[in-house]
Amino acid sequence: MELLDGKFLAKTIKAELKEKVAEYKAKGWRAPHLCAILVGEDGASQTYVASKARDCEELGMESSVLRFPNYITENELLGEIEKVNINKNIDGLIVQMPVPEQINALNVMNNIDASKDVDGFHPVNVGKMFKGLDTFLPATPYGIMTMLERYKIETSGKHCVVIGRSDIVGKPMAALLMQNTYPGNCTVTVCHSRTKNLTDFTLKADIIIAALGKPEFLKANMVKEGAVIIDVGITRVDADNERGYVIRGDVAFDEVAAKASFITPVPGGVGLMTRIGLLQNTLKAYEGHMKAGV
Ligand code: NAD
Repeated sequence: MELLDGKFLAKTIKAELKEKVAEYKAKGWRAPHLCAILVGEDGASQTYVASKARDCEELGMESSVLRFPNYITENELLGEIEKVNINKNIDGLIVQMPVPEQINALNVMNNIDASKDVDGFHPVNVGKMFKGLDTFLPATPYGIMTMLERYKIETSGKHCVVIGRSDIVGKPMAALLMQNTYPGNCTVTVCHSRTKNLTDFTLKADIIIAALGKPEFLKANMVKEGAVIIDVGITRVDADNERGYVIRGDVAFDEVAAKASFITPVPGGVGLMTRIGLLQNTLKAYEGHMKAGV
């Protein structure tokens, strides 16, 4: 079994991105700029946004956080998004989810300028992704594709089972792995909460992407010998430690690792690669804007 080490890979790719940013700045270009909109006081959202800002700083990119109270109206928020859309010094915009219930998340995503949509959630970018066109890919599937590529995992003709069909992980993951590309060319099966006899599918899988949010759901008896296991899950499970919780993935790591050819750990796997996906998208948005002179 070989560990797909997100920590090592993220460090390597960050160094590469940092060098690219330095080269652009040496040419006299401004720094890439990622803007995050944060509505309300949700603790996890604040942590995510803070880590994205730290990543930007590490790479020599600019970042800013626009904070709004959780009673902001949808119209007011859309107005704030428009201000960022027309700001020529901002390359990427993310609105940290979830947003309060008076705000329609779909309207939010649809109103972000597609050229700044570094989360890859705008319908134009989702459509481009499905057609295999060059665009921003949702950060988690992008991070997983990067990981498969860097570890030179064979994907062509392999049977990949994706567990979960969310818009941010399961669906785009399936779309990317079925493309005629590398990584890709998989035969993809998408399983979800209504799938019957899930184990019948997972036992036939060469690659399993577990993205259902159920701690240690995937057990050794559900996996065939030599499978590649990608664990997307992140769940806080109560624990008797200082923080009061531990982070668990969707895979029962120890028992599944004994059968797997490659496996991602949690933490230290997909989560770190997701952060890389966002940084890659931000740099892409920046390059697009600078080359177009906007
Ligand atoms: P979600 O809740 O939107 O979707 C979960 C999916 O799992 C649904 O499509 C549902 O049909 C399916 N599902 C639920 N129970 C199932 C079962 N028993 N059998 C088969 N399918 C089942 O979740 P999401 O946003 O896709 O996230 C999934 C997990 O990944 C969560 O733990 C989340 O925290 C984590 N996540 C991690 C990262 C990362 O960077 N590592 C990024 C995004 C999400």
